[in-house]
Amino acid sequence: MRLLHGRPLAERLAARSRERSAALLGRGIHPALTVISVGIDSAANTYLLRLVRGGEALDITVRDVSLHRDATEQAVSAELDRASRDPAVHGVLLLTPLPGKLDEAHLVDHIAAQKDVEGVNPYNVGLAQGGRQRFVPSTAEAIVELLKFHDIPLAGADVVVVGRSTVVGRPAAALLLNEDATVTIAHKRTSDVGALTRRASIVVVAVGHAGFLTGAMISPGATVVDAGINMTPAGIAGDADADSVATVAGALSPVPGGVGTVTTALLLRNVLSAAEAQTGDG
Ligand code: NAP
Repeated sequence: MRLLHGRPLAERLAARSRERSAALLGRGIHPALTVISVGIDSAANTYLLRLVRGGEALDITVRDVSLHRDATEQAVSAELDRASRDPAVHGVLLLTPLPGKLDEAHLVDHIAAQKDVEGVNPYNVGLAQGGRQRFVPSTAEAIVELLKFHDIPLAGADVVVVGRSTVVGRPAAALLLNEDATVTIAHKRTSDVGALTRRASIVVVAVGHAGFLTGAMISPGATVVDAGINMTPAGIAGDADADSVATVAGALSPVPGGVGTVTTALLLRNVLSAAEAQTGDG
């Protein structure tokens, strides 16, 4: 069984991003991302720390705006509006999940479409659905880019995506459809997930339950892309039961070391694309 490692792809993306960042700096443009978070300990948030560290390596300024967990929807939207208007900011990211009372679906409207590097504004969601993707959620893009990097054929492939969240399942399904795969989406109300996944040549699993997808649920030689990140007493685990899946699958993305390794590199690349587009070089 082949492991679909993310690191070589992340390194390739970073190398290209370094060149693009240097070109922007050469034109006097300092690429910048503003990350707005609500109610998190920003010094302890691993995703934010990864972005800051990744940004440093690429000369991208990552500015963290942390709001108190009691911040109102108005206060959060005001910060999103401010960053969206600021000409020195090229990308705007709203960290999720948000504290319960805040409505993410309304807040994303306040991220300017051309700075929406995580592709959550309805305009960018619509472009992706229509096959004209510009910015798309980085985890979904990481799933597809990992498959392409490892030369897994997508056109005509029978793909089942388990999970339909707006950040992973739905956009991953849209991108796979854009690659001419035949895509089925499964969710909690799907009557028999295993009956679907056993017919697929590629299974993408993004449910948030450690070990959800077992070897008995896939066909021999299938490719499994595991987007899950679950904290278990034994450490980080994916949504696939790697031990049983490995005895049946032809290829599996490891957790850690697979999809999650690529997401930050893609998000930072999008900041550079946004900076280029906003400064007349896109
Ligand atoms: P989410 O918003 O909780 O969505 C989970 C999805 O899985 C929902 O659509 C849900 O169905 C479906 N689901 C849950 N239990 C199921 C079951 N028993 N059978 C079928 N479908 C089921 O989670 P998410 O944000 O998409 O995240 C999914 C996983 O990806 C998590 O492990 C998360 O940590 C990971 N993640 C990774 C990255 C990364 O960078 N690699 C980024 C984001 C998330 P319903 O819609 O019917 O409720």
